[in-house]
Amino acid sequence: MRSEVLDVAGWRKVVHFEDAASGLKALIAIHDASLGPGCGGCRIYPYASFEDGLEDVKNLSRGMTFKNALGGIPFGGGKAVIFADPKTEKTPELLRAFGAAVESLDGLYYTAEDSGVTEADLEIVRSVTKYVAGMEDKGVGGNPSPFTARGVWRGMQAAARHKLGAASLNGLSVSVLGVGAVGMELARLIHQEGGKLVVADVNANAVNEAVERFGAEAVSPEDAIDADVDIFAPCALGGAINPDSIGRLKAKVVAGAANNQLKTLEMDKALAERGVLYCPDYVINAAGVISVGLEILGSWTTDEMNARIDKIGDTLSEIFKRAEAENAPIGAVADKMALEVISKAKKAA
Ligand code: NAD
Repeated sequence: MRSEVLDVAGWRKVVHFEDAASGLKALIAIHDASLGPGCGGCRIYPYASFEDGLEDVKNLSRGMTFKNALGGIPFGGGKAVIFADPKTEKTPELLRAFGAAVESLDGLYYTAEDSGVTEADLEIVRSVTKYVAGMEDKGVGGNPSPFTARGVWRGMQAAARHKLGAASLNGLSVSVLGVGAVGMELARLIHQEGGKLVVADVNANAVNEAVERFGAEAVSPEDAIDADVDIFAPCALGGAINPDSIGRLKAKVVAGAANNQLKTLEMDKALAERGVLYCPDYVINAAGVISVGLEILGSWTTDEMNARIDKIGDTLSEIFKRAEAENAPIGAVADKMALEVISKAKKAA
């Protein structure tokens, strides 16, 4: 296996791996390791160019630095990308070669699932390296979706308290766009607490399930943002809040699981100007990575896991208060707080 450390300003370490025998071509990026080893998933994707893969791994690893810092886990930001089509080019040899690449970093990076990578794939990676998390037999239950849903629910409660003066979600209405693994469990928690639901999904079966189980009102995906509700919960793809959709948003709170909910950076300010309270996506959806982090530490219990996840609500409350005090957009305040956590760790080191 050939490996080359790339000179990337602002990143702790970025390594390019190539292995002719297995066909592996991968990048592992550790953005910041002040809080601990870089931790973040591995994505397998047929990038059109090396530059595209490098750009993605840089953005993703940097995002993990912020997410892990505000998630309160002792890990830095890391991520890996493998240049391959997961449907046709993912082989056990490729995965083992990737495992060897991870192992060669001596614990500076822990890998986990991301798109194109399954739990079964991680089992193969783990046959070569111990620096792997997110698997059923090893810890907290592999699938992070129920944890993510719990974190979003706690964050939503904190936002409802702050913006709507509501002691709980009882009697509030929520439009959930995307009732998949996270969205369905979130809908269950909202329903259980007495909230009213509007749901939308391209998958009609999922919509029907939510209607039957929770008495939800079904709308089309295009209409989910228009729904006359208190809270909008984007739980499908990224970019739900964009220049075209923002004018149609009726809810006063945006609290959902999707990554990259804001299509552009300007949306952060635009939401603030409209008096909408936005829960930064990487803060509210961090429970999955919190569960992975605790699994790596190996010291978790279900109670501890839930307690850590429930702190997402407290973190968001702090962000809301600071954003108000500083009259600054929420996303910018979250980033600032994450950087403060990191710089404190740097000073303490
Ligand atoms: P999922 O694939 O199980 O669910 C997504 C749902 O969205 C599916 O039901 C799908 O049919 C629906 N959908 C897709 N495109 C749509 C569209 N255009 N309009 C309406 N519905 C559409 O995924 P998930 O695991 O529930 O994750 C949901 C979101 O949360 C994703 O953005 C994911 O990146 C993010 N997220 C998930 C986790 C986790 O633990 N699963 C953690 C952090 C972030």
